[in-house]
Amino acid sequence: MKILFYDTKSYDRDSFQETLADFSGLEIEYTKSDLDPRTATLAEGFDAVCAFVSSDVGAHTIEILHQKGIRLILMRCAGFNNVDMDAAKRCDIRVMRVPGYSPEAVAEHAMALALAANRRLYKAYNKVRENDFSLSGLMGFNFFEKTAGIVGTGKIGAAMCRICRGFGMKVIAYDVYENPALKDFVEYVSLERLLSDSDVISLHCPLMDSTYHLINIDTIRQMKDGVVLVNTSRGALVKTDDLIEGIRMHKFAGVGLDVYEEETNNVFEDRSDEILEHSTTARLLSFPNVMITSHQGFFTREALSAIAETTLQNALDFDAGLESANDVT
Ligand code: NAD
Repeated sequence: MKILFYDTKSYDRDSFQETLADFSGLEIEYTKSDLDPRTATLAEGFDAVCAFVSSDVGAHTIEILHQKGIRLILMRCAGFNNVDMDAAKRCDIRVMRVPGYSPEAVAEHAMALALAANRRLYKAYNKVRENDFSLSGLMGFNFFEKTAGIVGTGKIGAAMCRICRGFGMKVIAYDVYENPALKDFVEYVSLERLLSDSDVISLHCPLMDSTYHLINIDTIRQMKDGVVLVNTSRGALVKTDDLIEGIRMHKFAGVGLDVYEEETNNVFEDRSDEILEHSTTARLLSFPNVMITSHQGFFTREALSAIAETTLQNALDFDAGLESANDVT
């Protein structure tokens, strides 16, 4: 089975090549191009493509993949909001994903962002490098005995709940389903109560119609003054213009973002100064209490090898005609 691997970074190639040794019958060709309607034509002669969160797996791309004979799209990530599932069904293309690889990788990064934003670590680092050892502008607050509000308590949210408990925080959560594994130490509350009671809010729900712009000026107004907000989930959970308004209102002690709305436009892949100047992400970066990382929550050794293993197993399951819990339906 031949797989065309899009948007290849050197670390992807390393982890997939290492894992491939344990999977016979699979062949991978790597391209640096990301998947979109133009590059979909490269898939001629392959059985499957492997794509990522940044890929454009919309209807147009899928139709071209179908014309080129592709029968399987392997998403090497958990989220699939960038895949047009109606088009995939229409074209009889199976879509498989990696629902969980290392929830702790993302949850640990979420806590790192919360701490870094609260204690202004990025600012402290730069100050000391410039020989400025003063503490002005660096004051934070203790997380111990404060309230953590976790939105979405699936795999990553649950890991974040455990981390927050370890910090001695009271943990409250909002989800459409309660996770029974958390019942001993997490109190489920309404979204309104989570917003008004939390000192640290961390988003771990998927991006769907019902969660699009979940954080907007109305929900921001309901938050405590001096809250720390972290988003490691999907950029469009937060309405960026409203977040900027909230920051201007001094609502936040700190904001930590690993994901942002403009990611899908590849603003930072492009790195054009002009785009950067006008991007809302660049506006966010101008605030001293905002810390942004570049969608690196998943980026640990353990997570990368788990992603490679599950993706290749998905390919084998497809080849063997087996149903899988990793099917996107
Ligand atoms: P999951 O499916 O295990 O959990 C998602 C949880 O969100 C579920 O419990 C679900 O019931 C809940 N949910 C659904 N709709 C909701 C709503 N309207 N309000 C509140 N909760 C709702 O997913 P996961 O593995 O924990 O991943 C969570 C998200 O993290 C993914 O959707 C993805 O966008 C993101 N993610 C980010 C990175 C990164 O590198 N930053 C890596 C992996 C995943």
